[in-house]
Amino acid sequence: MNVRAYLDNAATTAPLPSAIEAARRVMEQSWGNPSSLHEAGKQARAELNAARASVARALSCAPDCVTFTSGGTESINTALRGAAWHNRRIGKHIVSTAIEHEATLETLAALRDEGFEITLVPPGRDGVVPLASLVAAMRDDTILLSIMAVNNETGAVQPYVEAVRALKARNARALVHVDAVQAFLKLPLALEGIDLVSVSAHKLGGLKGCGALYARRGLKLRPYLTGGGQESGLRSGTEGMPAIAAFGAACAVRHAVFDENAARLAQLRANLLDRLARLDLPCVVHSPQDGAPHIVNLSLCRGRSEVYVRALSDCGVCVSGGSACARGKRSYVLSAMKLDSRAIDAALRVSLCPETTEDDLAAFCAALRDAADLF
Ligand code: PLP
Repeated sequence: MNVRAYLDNAATTAPLPSAIEAARRVMEQSWGNPSSLHEAGKQARAELNAARASVARALSCAPDCVTFTSGGTESINTALRGAAWHNRRIGKHIVSTAIEHEATLETLAALRDEGFEITLVPPGRDGVVPLASLVAAMRDDTILLSIMAVNNETGAVQPYVEAVRALKARNARALVHVDAVQAFLKLPLALEGIDLVSVSAHKLGGLKGCGALYARRGLKLRPYLTGGGQESGLRSGTEGMPAIAAFGAACAVRHAVFDENAARLAQLRANLLDRLARLDLPCVVHSPQDGAPHIVNLSLCRGRSEVYVRALSDCGVCVSGGSACARGKRSYVLSAMKLDSRAIDAALRVSLCPETTEDDLAAFCAALRDAADLF
């Protein structure tokens, strides 16, 4: 790939060497079906168990609470549809936020069509959904809260811990789902009181097409994918073993050096902000100061995101205008934050990983300065 600086790690990450190695091992040596009773099946089952144990360790939960899926989107679909169905007799009201990923928003829209009532709570100008607004949206018939831990466009950390506590105090039978796709192995995750958590492999050095759903022990959900009963019946389909083994390997690496990586990302982010301040361009940062360490959303408030993205790409620098999924559409996240329309139209998301270097940041700043001359 002709890329000098890859700074779009919230969209996806390069697979870690150990993840590639694990996928290769499974493809070459343990390619059996983990449900088969013979030796080839047993070897594949051992890989599956090891990967599950690794993801569970990184989540600080028991392995039987982890279900492998095809990614964050499927985990979220399984969680929301399953939770809504589970609690359908005690109420129809679901609380979420206006800045969730489309995987959540579109699933909630489908649930609305099925008769559920959805309240989407807007964020403040800092991209954080105020706890007081979340609490005000909760009702006696609220059966589910779905909230992201970290927003994928701004990196704003949401008050999910406090919101979970508030909902459970009001209605102990309500379920809580946290979309931790951007938070997992970047920030500490507290599972206390949380029933369901969605994570994705390709955001942390694993492969695309693989994720996991944490479900609290004892919570039996109606499956979204039915069939052969794999994954304890919650997710049928022969497990995609190369990507699952790679996910386990990536979790092991990232978990082992979590503190070092968190400190490194925080330092990189601070250095990036410092470099931007020294650029002498009218740069506005939309991410809150205490946001997740790997995402910085910024704007020069003139021009259009996609033009910057292409100009930067021509210099070998990869960033995104808003989220990768948005592809040219106006960001509903930044719009919900009520930012100035010029700032929204020119917004860029720079996202880091522990392998990001100072040279990458320098290349981005140099390319941004050149791109600014286009407008
Ligand atoms: N949730 C968030 C916050 C995300 O950032 C993403 C991906 O960008 C997803 C969910 C969807 O995950 P996946 O790409 O694994 O389906």
